[in-house]
Amino acid sequence: SNAAVNAITRPSRHVDWPTTKGRLSYVSEIFGEKVFTLSKMAESLPKPEFKKFVEQVQGRQQLDRSTADAVAHAVRIWAMNKGATHYCHWFQPQTGTTASKHDTFLSLKTVNNNGVDETIALDAFSGGALMQSEPDASSFPNGGMRTTFEARGYTVWDTASPMFLRPAAHGTFVLYIPSVFISYNGEALDEKTILLRSNEAVSNAAVKLLHVLGKTHVKRVITTLGCEQEFFLIDRSLYQMRPDLKMTGRSLVGSVPPKHQQLEDHYFGAIPSRVVAVLGEVEMELFKLGVPLKTRHNEVAPNQFEVAPIFEEAAVAVDHNLLTMEVFHTVSHRHGLKVLFHEKPFKGVNGSGKHANWALSTDTGENLLDPSATPETNYQFLLVLAATLDAVHKHGGLLRAGIASASNEHRLGAQEAPPGIVSAFMGEHLDEVLNAVEEGRPVNSKNTAHLTSVKVGGTQLDIKVSTLPDISRDLTDRNRTSPFAFTGNKFEFRAVGSKQSPSFPVTLLNSAVAASLNDVAAALIEQKGEAELPTTDDILAVVRKFIAQSKNIRFEGNNYSQEWVEEAARRGLPNIKSAPAAFKQLLVPANVDVLVSQGVLSQNELNSRYHILNETYTKNQLIEANTLSAMVSQSILPAAFTYRKELCDSLRGLKEFVLDYKSTPEFTALEALHGLTNTLQSSNSALLKVIHTVENLGDTDKEAEVCGSELVAALNTVRNAADALEGVVADKHWPFPKYAELLF
Ligand code: ADP
Ligand code: MG
Repeated sequence: SNAAVNAITRPSRHVDWPTTKGRLSYVSEIFGEKVFTLSKMAESLPKPEFKKFVEQVQGRQQLDRSTADAVAHAVRIWAMNKGATHYCHWFQPQTGTTASKHDTFLSLKTVNNNGVDETIALDAFSGGALMQSEPDASSFPNGGMRTTFEARGYTVWDTASPMFLRPAAHGTFVLYIPSVFISYNGEALDEKTILLRSNEAVSNAAVKLLHVLGKTHVKRVITTLGCEQEFFLIDRSLYQMRPDLKMTGRSLVGSVPPKHQQLEDHYFGAIPSRVVAVLGEVEMELFKLGVPLKTRHNEVAPNQFEVAPIFEEAAVAVDHNLLTMEVFHTVSHRHGLKVLFHEKPFKGVNGSGKHANWALSTDTGENLLDPSATPETNYQFLLVLAATLDAVHKHGGLLRAGIASASNEHRLGAQEAPPGIVSAFMGEHLDEVLNAVEEGRPVNSKNTAHLTSVKVGGTQLDIKVSTLPDISRDLTDRNRTSPFAFTGNKFEFRAVGSKQSPSFPVTLLNSAVAASLNDVAAALIEQKGEAELPTTDDILAVVRKFIAQSKNIRFEGNNYSQEWVEEAARRGLPNIKSAPAAFKQLLVPANVDVLVSQGVLSQNELNSRYHILNETYTKNQLIEANTLSAMVSQSILPAAFTYRKELCDSLRGLKEFVLDYKSTPEFTALEALHGLTNTLQSSNSALLKVIHTVENLGDTDKEAEVCGSELVAALNTVRNAADALEGVVADKHWPFPKYAELLF
C-alpha cells in the first residue's frame, strides 16, 4: 500500500543531544537533572529540616507540618526555576498504568490596598498540598471496596521516591510527586501501597534470619529489582490503519509472512536508524529523570527490541519501569512510530516479556543471593536460597496469579514463552551444590568438572584465542526457558507480562519469600536451642529440610518442551493455562494466609483485587471480540464481496468465450473464496452470540470464565477464517496492512 511505501521513506526525527562546555554531555552530567534528589534538597533546605526529612524517610519519625512546608517551598522554587507551572500526585491505580491530575502553583490572596480589598495572584505550595491530595477517584477500579458515599480516595507522597519534572506543553514542566493511593479507611487502592508493605514484610523476615546468624548490625533488607523490557516498534500510519492494534494492542487478524524470524537475523543485529533515533531520545529523557537505562538491543522477532536498566530499590524500579513505558509512548509518537508493549502483538511471531530481576540486599550493601565463589560453604546464601525455593514451592500459585492477564495468556504456554507451570532453575553448578547438601555428601567436582577452577565472580573460561583477554563467567549458566531462573546473583522472574506493572508480581513474590524466611528463621532458632549462634550442622540441617521439601519445583531442562508438561504433571505441579483459573489462586487458603497474616493485603483488599482482575479480564476480552467482529463485518467481508463480484464479472465474460469456464483458475478462486466467506460469516455470528451471552451473565466470576473458554475459542475460529481469507483475496482488496508491511 501507499502507506507502507511512505513508512519506508519517512526520515528519522532529528534531536540534539545536550551539550556541556561545548561538547556533547556525558550521561552522568544529564543524569537526574530533572529529579529533586536528596542532594538538591540538602542544598536548598535548612539543615535541621533536612535531617528531619531523612529521618522520616528512614521510618524513624513522622513528618511534621513545618518540615513538610519547608520541603514544599524548596521543591517549588527548584521546580519553578526549571519551568514548572503545575504539580501533581502521580499514582498507580489498578489499571496497569499511572494517573495524575495537575494543579497549578497559583494561589489567590486578598490584600488591603489603601483601604480597598484587592485580590492578587501568588505562587504557593504548602506542605499539606505536597503530602496529600484528594483526587476525585471514584472512577478508578476499586472492586466494590468504596461505595459512592465514601468514595474518597487519598494520594499521599511516598517520600522514599523522589519528585521529578516531566515536560508538558510550550516548554513548561509539571512537578511529579510519586504517591500511594488509599481509601478513606486506609485500604490500598493502588499497586504501590501493597508493594511497600511487602518490602517491609520481606525486610522484617530477612533481618530476623540475619540476627539469628549473629548479624545484628543489619537493620533493614531491601528488595532490589531490575526490569528488562521488551517491545515492538511499528510505523504509526500503518498502525492507524489497524483498528485491532489501536483498540487492543495486538493484531486480531493476520498471518506470518514466509520470512519472519526463522533466520534469526534480527537478534542483536544492527538497530535500524529510525529506531535508534527513538531509543536515543527515550534514553535522553529517562536519564534526565534519573532512570538508569543501561542496555538496548534488537530482540528475536522482527521489529522487536529490549531495554534494561541498572537495578534499584524495588518501588523506585517500578516507578522507573512505568516511566520508561510512558516515555516510549510519547517519544515514539514524535518519531511517527508506535510502541507496542502487548505480550503477543503478532500471531506466530515471538511475544514480549518483562524479565523482573529480583534479589535482596542488606542496608550495608550485601546481596543475600550472591553465592560467592563457594556457595557450598556460604551458609547465609544457602538459607536465603532455600527460603526462596520454599516460597516458590508453597506459593507457586501466587506467582502464577500475579502474571495472569488477558494479554499475557497469549504468551505463556506459547512456543517461545514459559508454560503456565511455575518452576525454578538453578543452573548445573548450584543444582549440584543443593543436591550435595541435601544428600549430606561433598560437592562432586566430577559433576561440575567443566566448571572447575573457581575464582571470585565465577569460573575461568578458556576461549582459546590468545589475543582475547581471559574472561570469567558466572557460576550459573543460562536457561532462557525457565519462568523463574537463578542467574548469577539474583532470580529472574521471566514470565512477567511486558505490558503489566511489575508491582503486583513482585509484591506476591516478596510476600511468599517473607513467609518462608520467617519459617527458616524459626526452624533455625529451634535447631540451635539454647546456643547463642547456630552451628554449621544446625544450618545445614535446616537448609537440607527446606531444599528437600521444595525439590519438585526445581527443573533444569527445557521448559518449552512437551516432556516438561508431562513431567510436571507426574510431579503434581499445576499447569494453569487461563488467567481466570490463575486468579483463583488468590483465594486458595494458604495463599490468602500468606498475604493477610503479613499485612500485605487485608481479606477485603484481596477480594476487591480478585474482583478487579476478573472484571478487567472480561472487559479486555469483550473489547477484542467486538473489535474483531466489527472488522469482519465492516471491512473483511465487504472486501471479500468486492473481490467475489470481480471474479463473477470476469467469469461471466469467460463464459462467452470459454466453453468449460468451470475449469478456469477464476472459477477455482471463486469457489475457495465462496467457502471461506461463508465460514467467516457464520463464525462471526457465533462470536456475536457468545458476546451476547457474556454480557448477560451478570456475575464477574462467571463472565471471566466464559470469556476464557468460549469467547476465546469463538474469537480464534473467526480469526482462522479471516486469515484463510487473507490468503485468497486479491492483495489490492485486503482492507488492512499485512504482517509483511507492519513488520518489515
Ligand atoms: P542477564 O544477562 O542475566 O539477563 P544482566 O546482567 O544483563 O543479566 O542483568 C539483567 C538485569 O538484572 C539488569 O536490569 C540488572 O540491573 C539486573 N540485576 C543485576 N543484579 C541484580 C540484583 N542484585 N537485584 C536485582 N536486579 C539485578
Ligand atoms: Mg535476562
